[in-house]
Amino acid sequence: MPIKSRIRTIPHFPKYGIQYRDITTLLKDPLGLRLVVYELFKRYTGQKIDKIAAIESRGFIIAAPLAVQLGVGLVPIRKPGKLPGEKVGHDYQLEYGSDRLELHSDAIESGEKVLLVDDLLATGGTALAGIHLIEKLGGALVECAFVVDLPDVGGRRRLEGEGYSVFALCEFE
Ligand code: AMP
Repeated sequence: MPIKSRIRTIPHFPKYGIQYRDITTLLKDPLGLRLVVYELFKRYTGQKIDKIAAIESRGFIIAAPLAVQLGVGLVPIRKPGKLPGEKVGHDYQLEYGSDRLELHSDAIESGEKVLLVDDLLATGGTALAGIHLIEKLGGALVECAFVVDLPDVGGRRRLEGEGYSVFALCEFE
């Protein structure tokens, strides 16, 4: 598993009990990002995709070279207060408290086919917030693509249960 073996696990970060899957070791390897982009390009080339929506911040790193390879536009889904233009927002619950993601109102045209990209799927809360933003603007989700899925946390079940398609390059228990 050339991608999985390049991802480092840091125990108890950012808090006790979390196994943090750190993609910086994948990115620093000269072949790491190339492998990720190659595998995602293989899956999505030839599919009807108008835009990639990338989730701040590690999603940006994966999505940008993929958008170049696929020849499609990139729109950033960002944390509150970062986007300068008119925007739509979606609030979602975390284990403790809540969070919010935003997307420029003109980022997606109604009917456009959008691929959502992030580094990792855990509970699915972040991805679902991104999907809500895409749908608020009339976009149609093609699939959610991740480098890592943590199936035991349940995000894939949650997204697929709501009828969304999920693709990940590797899994960690
Ligand atoms: P979730 O909304 O629970 O699916 O969490 C996904 C977001 O949190 C992604 O943007 C990840 O970057 C980050 N994240 C959650 N859990 C981990 C983990 N164990 N290791 C690294 N990043 C994580």
